[in-house]
Amino acid sequence: MKKIIIIGGGFAGISAVSKLRQLGETVDIVLIDSKEEFNFLPMLPDIIGRRIRPDFLEFKLPDFCQKTGAKFIKDEVIKIDLENNTLFSSKDSYHYDYLIIASGSETNFYGNEAAKKHGFKLDSTKDAIAILDQLGKNIFDTFIIAGGGYTGIEVATNLRKYLDHKKLNQRIVIVERAPSILGPLPEWMKQYVNNNLKNLKIEVLTNVTLDKIEADRVALSNKAEFNKAMLIWTAGVKTADFIFNLNKEKTPQGRLKLDEFLRINNNCFAAGDAGTFSYKDKPLRMAVQFSIYQGELAAKNIMSSIRGSNLKAYKPVDLGYVIPMANNVSCGNIFGINFRGLFATALHYFMCIYRSRGFRNRMGIITGLLRGGAK
Ligand SMILES: Cc1cc2nc3c(=O)[nH]c(=O)nc-3n(C[C@H](O)[C@H](O)[C@H](O)COP(=O)(O)OP(=O)(O)OC[C@H]3O[C@@H](n4cnc5c(N)ncnc54)[C@H](O)[C@@H]3O)c2cc1C
Repeated sequence: MKKIIIIGGGFAGISAVSKLRQLGETVDIVLIDSKEEFNFLPMLPDIIGRRIRPDFLEFKLPDFCQKTGAKFIKDEVIKIDLENNTLFSSKDSYHYDYLIIASGSETNFYGNEAAKKHGFKLDSTKDAIAILDQLGKNIFDTFIIAGGGYTGIEVATNLRKYLDHKKLNQRIVIVERAPSILGPLPEWMKQYVNNNLKNLKIEVLTNVTLDKIEADRVALSNKAEFNKAMLIWTAGVKTADFIFNLNKEKTPQGRLKLDEFLRINNNCFAAGDAGTFSYKDKPLRMAVQFSIYQGELAAKNIMSSIRGSNLKAYKPVDLGYVIPMANNVSCGNIFGINFRGLFATALHYFMCIYRSRGFRNRMGIITGLLRGGAK
């Protein structure tokens, strides 16, 4: 029986497992993840601002695997030997016939050890809980958000919502090294977001970097200094180290360049944030919609390879995106149409509820949004 290993139980990985099970009774499916819980990443900032309970954004991967007839192994992959079809962790090795790399991405500290030591990241429900715990101490005068991309903006607005709820009024400062926030997005959107941030008394510093980071002190390249400051680092992401060490073509973020069938060789596929795929001459952004579909297609193409039939080329469909802001003044572009305000917020959460799994989690998110977060 052919053995298919999937590294990573995120959006791409669980879609691949479900699709494999649907397509074939006669394969061994093994899901390896370094943690036992699936995490619904797009709503992590809502744990802070909208008080969504973290357990509604999780489910147990061993239970999911048991239901789908797959085997779950909790382990961290540290190396892949593509020549010999073998994976390695620090304690074990695993042989595969087919592999799907779906290990997503993680915070990139760009080798800044001080940022890694003193800054807070937001890669998992555990990270969100760590941020909430720190906020609960109420010992900071300023919150510095490093990075003015989607995540930085979402975190900043959720932080303001959290502080408003507690009737606190500390400074929130987004520090962005580029000349503007939200990099390649359209000008109207940047303007819209900037206006909203201003209304929320969130300061934005552009063309500025972090010069010195200490336990509760941050100094910036514009000579500004903040004492009693909490740093939240949302300045970029990268793929896992084992991908960087693969001798295959990658982007600077370490995303693997894939052929039209989502492969890096005949029996190794990648899906989700771990891979990159060009669409209309631009790399596809990291997003849930692409991860899910790529996971399913990688699974289908593996089954076609096993059966000796033709593989299907990946043709991305981009439904669009929303930049959700916690005061419900969001903006986005869906099916080529620009949306603003509450409607854009509603579209975002509609997609989140639709993409989340299980009745309990969906109801938890809906009631959480209605109770604490909809205002
Ligand atoms: C705060 C935040 C907000 C976001 N908001 C949105 C949004 O609004 N809309 C949107 O479309 N996208 C959003 N995204 C991006 C989206 O979540 C990702 O594109 C998506 O999760 C990628 O799915 P994936 O399956 O590739 O990886 P992930 O969902 O990251 O899953 C990867 C899995 O691999 C595991 N893993 C990693 N390394 C190893 C290893 N070495 N060994 C074993 N297991 C490993 C991890 O534990 C994890 O379970 C957001 C992301 C974040 C962090």
